[in-house]
Amino acid sequence: MEWKKNEVYETEIIDYTTEGAGVGKINGMAVFVPSTAIGDKADVKLLKVAKNYAYGKIETLHTPSPHRQTVDCPIFDQCGGCTFRHIDYASELAFKQKRVRDTLTRIGGLAADLVQPIVGAAQCDGYRNKAQLPITMDKNGQAVVGFFAPRSHRVIPLTHCHLQMPVFNEALRVFLSWANRYHVMPYDETTHSGILRHLYLRYAEKTDQLMVCVVANAHQLRKDKQLVEMLQQALPCLTTVVLNVNTEKTNVITGKTCHTLYGQGYITDELCGLHFRLSPLSFYQINRTQAEVLYTLAAECADLQPHETLLDLYCGTGTIGLTMAEKVARLIGVEIIPQAVEDARRNAAENHITKAEFICADASAAAAQLQTRGIRPDCVVLDPPRKGCDSALITAVAKMAPQRVVYVSCDPATLARDIRVFADHGYTVKKAVPVDMFPRTTHVECVVLMTKCE
Ligand code: SAH
Repeated sequence: MEWKKNEVYETEIIDYTTEGAGVGKINGMAVFVPSTAIGDKADVKLLKVAKNYAYGKIETLHTPSPHRQTVDCPIFDQCGGCTFRHIDYASELAFKQKRVRDTLTRIGGLAADLVQPIVGAAQCDGYRNKAQLPITMDKNGQAVVGFFAPRSHRVIPLTHCHLQMPVFNEALRVFLSWANRYHVMPYDETTHSGILRHLYLRYAEKTDQLMVCVVANAHQLRKDKQLVEMLQQALPCLTTVVLNVNTEKTNVITGKTCHTLYGQGYITDELCGLHFRLSPLSFYQINRTQAEVLYTLAAECADLQPHETLLDLYCGTGTIGLTMAEKVARLIGVEIIPQAVEDARRNAAENHITKAEFICADASAAAAQLQTRGIRPDCVVLDPPRKGCDSALITAVAKMAPQRVVYVSCDPATLARDIRVFADHGYTVKKAVPVDMFPRTTHVECVVLMTKCE
């Protein structure tokens, strides 16, 4: 059949892509339609046509899917932060479950029954404990904050975001009224002029502590005392206010230098019973409640014994290993970013954990080095970035011959690829548990337990 751009065709949505767009068929060809739901019957206008597939948008929705729900955000279509506000949570979880199951069975060669039911979140909104909002000037000369539209630097202004901690909405309102009252200018990236680049907010849920960080194209902030006063008056949980200096022409949000304007320059949160210090530049899990669920699952898989050695590779600020430390004799963490390693060491000290050591190195290099030093961990936890592990790392881990490998993954595709490499080294998957850390988005985490075949 001939496809024609801008022509309208009738179709039914039967599946989703990994990016969460609906998939329909027109005479056997796939058409991808964002913001649709399985079961939608619609006339779709083709916007981009390739040989075997096309992209389209809904022209007329004849029969809405029973999985649809009312979209409760006015900027859902423009902002790109959420993919799934238009379908119910059960359907979103079904999408994530299927995505993990299909990927692990097709690419990873896993038996489907090893993939357990996804662990959903109790709360789909208000879970993000960190927000980095670009600041810009609107047509009326007022400072606004928002999100960048997908693949662009156009700021979509917002006054309220459902995914964020509710306290952030009040913080951004106060911040903007300060900026507009005292005419502190938003930064303009085309002319590299103006001051205010990003409003960066962090909230420690368990301890009710708020950090407001202003990322500025300046070494000092005019009217900073007034900002602190206004925030203090409106927000009883305000704990610290920080100025982060970023005078570079760059897309990177934060600069290297921070000046504390109020409080101690950091907040402290509690995770799995331990305390973690969060400064503007330190890494912390975005969804604290689900991070506890994820770490608890990882600990169950690890099944640690008091005499054992645990190796936590890609350890970040040490959170996974430290929350398991009381169960083992020795903990070794490996992380490539020096500042994260410093944070991990301090986190260990502040929680009075003396059996932990942290190595600042590439995970593969460190694993190979530990192996030559004769260190034989009983269990290895891996939590790599999206690109997964390289095969040199998997070889080095296999040489250390741990009984159990717990792989915490944020990308099912690279996880599936890595499971195959582990299989070549004699490791079999015992179970895979998908976990929803980021409701309303397409992201899905997964905890996998592999054991060494005897
Ligand atoms: N386990 C931590 C952090 C996981 S994020 C937590 O749960 O909080 C992945 C981490 O891997 C990041 O901190 C990143 O800096 C680190 N990393 C990336 N490449 C690495 C490499 N080649 N070697 C060691 N660490 C690496």
